[in-house]
Amino acid sequence: MSTRENSNPELKLVFDEPKQKVRPPQHFADLDVEERKQLAIDLGLPAFRAKQAATHFFTHYNDEPETWSDIPKEMRQLMAEKFMPRLITLVKSVTTDSGKTRKDLWRLHDGVLVESVLMRYTDRTTVCISSQAGCGMNCPFCATGQGGLTRNLTAGEITAQVVAAARVCASGELPGGPTRLSNVVFMGMGEPLANYKSVIRSVRNIVSPQPEGLGIGARSVTVSTVGLVNGIEKLMGEDIPVTLAVSLHTPDDELRDSLVPINSRFKVREVLAAADAYAEKTGRRYSIEYALIRDINDQAWRSDLLGRLLKNRNAHVNLIPLNPTPGSKWTASRPEDEKEFVRILEGYRVPVTVRDTRGREIDGACGQLAASEIASPS
Ligand code: SAH
Repeated sequence: MSTRENSNPELKLVFDEPKQKVRPPQHFADLDVEERKQLAIDLGLPAFRAKQAATHFFTHYNDEPETWSDIPKEMRQLMAEKFMPRLITLVKSVTTDSGKTRKDLWRLHDGVLVESVLMRYTDRTTVCISSQAGCGMNCPFCATGQGGLTRNLTAGEITAQVVAAARVCASGELPGGPTRLSNVVFMGMGEPLANYKSVIRSVRNIVSPQPEGLGIGARSVTVSTVGLVNGIEKLMGEDIPVTLAVSLHTPDDELRDSLVPINSRFKVREVLAAADAYAEKTGRRYSIEYALIRDINDQAWRSDLLGRLLKNRNAHVNLIPLNPTPGSKWTASRPEDEKEFVRILEGYRVPVTVRDTRGREIDGACGQLAASEIASPS
């Protein structure tokens, strides 16, 4: 179960696979297009069956080969077992905002729990997905970090959350009728760049055109990180212009060392330099995530320092009023301090927005995902 071994600030395990007792079964979504064909051949199936499976899964969000009528009946069982083993099972859904925000609790094959949050807005529908069960980054204001890292999710488990969200959108279950899943954010449980391989495989599944993937534009996919510089550099080499979000939370190393403990390894300047290089390479503006915590990081002088740091960078600041988490004494900034913080940044012509607090009532907002069956109201 949960282990806190990775929450050591030294974090020598950042890129190591945590020990996993029983690996989840291999899924079609763990493979690239060539590997999918090879798997079909290895199973004694014609290679083109892989493409048919991809169409069912990524275009129709159907993961039940028993219902695939263009597949000969005698092949369906084998495809169900080897292509589409069930990786995530819905334990419960909780909704708020008249059903427009929905938090899903998933059980993985080994009983581990993770959460995803689906949010319908007027102009888009976004799913916030988990890349790890728990998190090893140990940021003191985030509920996920408090239990430590349980394990990395596989590409199949990450992709399954997105496909499930796309299915809900298409089915018309959300108020407002059927819609298309338009955005994916890696802002649920976990540090995506500490589970690099599986995250990239799942990003490819999300952005590849149909039928090989979900066909969601790379620009509509956001990878949010505490600032693992080597991860950002690797991501730059992938040639997938996803939007990068960096959880900065303060412009000074002194405070950041405690708010985001990995800062002891990657300092503010190095993180921003990596994000700049990423922006340069992809032509994409990056986001700076900044949870405003009363009397901790919301002082005018910090806004001033942040403004000076960012004024000539291709960055946009996303202020997040701190969401309450169990056991934390910290709270969101006073409205007047938040306003002043914004005003100062605007004075430096740094683009800034304040994020809404969608999902707060169901512990589904930023930093509140802890995937406990008891903590989530039914
Ligand atoms: N590990 C990644 C992604 C997960 S969290 C990262 O840190 O970027 C997504 C965002 O929510 C991060 O910016 C995170 O710092 C922020 N967050 C965490 N706890 C929060 C809280 N209690 N209130 C508001 N935002 C929070």
